[in-house]
Amino acid sequence: MKRFEFKKSLGQNFLHDQNIIHKIVDSADIDKNSLVIEVGPGGGALTELIVPLCGQALLYEADRRLESSLQQLLYQYSNYEIIFGDFLEADLSSDLKRYHYDKLYVVANLPYYITTPIIMKFIDENIFPDQMVIMVQKEVAYRLAAKVGTKDYGSLTVFLNYYYDIQKLFDVSRNCFTPKPNVDSAVIRMNLKEERLKVNNIDLFKSLVRDSFLYKRKTLRNNLKGYNLEIVASVLSKYGFDLSVRAENLSLEIFVEMANELVSQ
Ligand code: SAM
Repeated sequence: MKRFEFKKSLGQNFLHDQNIIHKIVDSADIDKNSLVIEVGPGGGALTELIVPLCGQALLYEADRRLESSLQQLLYQYSNYEIIFGDFLEADLSSDLKRYHYDKLYVVANLPYYITTPIIMKFIDENIFPDQMVIMVQKEVAYRLAAKVGTKDYGSLTVFLNYYYDIQKLFDVSRNCFTPKPNVDSAVIRMNLKEERLKVNNIDLFKSLVRDSFLYKRKTLRNNLKGYNLEIVASVLSKYGFDLSVRAENLSLEIFVEMANELVSQ
């Protein structure tokens, strides 16, 4: 990998810190019955630890220049497949149909420029990995694991927390990467919830959450002008709030109840 020309446009910051690499893979519950998806194996830092542990590994890499080094690194294994191309364009459902597995995991050091689209691709395609252990930009980690009432709590927090229990595991200094990025990172673990709250119309729930946070400093009265505010107010009053509340103070449960009441109006 010594003379490799890193592409900034592909978010190529490869991990070199062995302690962190092991810590990430150890944080996932990989076993021989699992299929592990890694988006962006790069030079294979995580991959070479994942492949021996899992049943099958499905690797998506945008950069074909990495093909021979990945193949050399993994030459003794046959339980992996590399798909070259843009993960966001992949036909995930049909790729997954080729595999039999008990659990589906995602373990990855994600390219920062498309972290959210990558996570949302799974959700939007109705593919719910049992667990995701992913390295993301530190701010994103704080946002996803934020508690209600804090400044980091946003629409993505609420929406993803509907499906997943999200925990920030540890911070990773920029010095652990080659080349060194301009931002610090953190690793989060997302465990699929065994029981979800019942949402009657997921699209409405999604737009309600997104619109509630549209202008962060504004109240629900302002952000939800297009909705039936009487219904919104009646749900809020059950929890001791009124329309002057800001979205950051509302729990997942309140959003779910508002969405369900709005759908049955
Ligand atoms: N996993 C390696 C590591 O930890 O050292 C590399 C991680 S690096 C932050 C991100 C990787 O994602 C790079 O290998 C990059 O080429 C790849 N990548 C970037 N955009 C991608 C995309 N749209 N689809 C698939 N892989 C992508």
